[in-house]
Amino acid sequence: MELQTKTCETCRLKVVFAPCLGCGAGVCETCVQFELIGSGCGCVWPAYYCPKCAWDPYVNPNAAFRDPPKEKGGFTSR
Ligand SMILES: [Zn+2]
Ligand SMILES: [Zn+2]
Repeated sequence: MELQTKTCETCRLKVVFAPCLGCGAGVCETCVQFELIGSGCGCVWPAYYCPKCAWDPYVNPNAAFRDPPKEKGGFTSR
């Protein structure tokens, strides 16, 4: 039996749930950031990002619309 289980590249504790659409790093079910990408023709499809890419506007077109990461709890805009 061959178990090619990779560990999450964010927390390095859990098994990879999905690859990040942005950088390709494996992310576990806990760290994964689920995003719905709109294509403009009315259809949306699910995308999985690692926490880094989820808030990176260069990677995730929806990053600007996301709530900022809950790290410092700072109020930016809005
Ligand atoms: Zn993780
Ligand atoms: Zn990533």
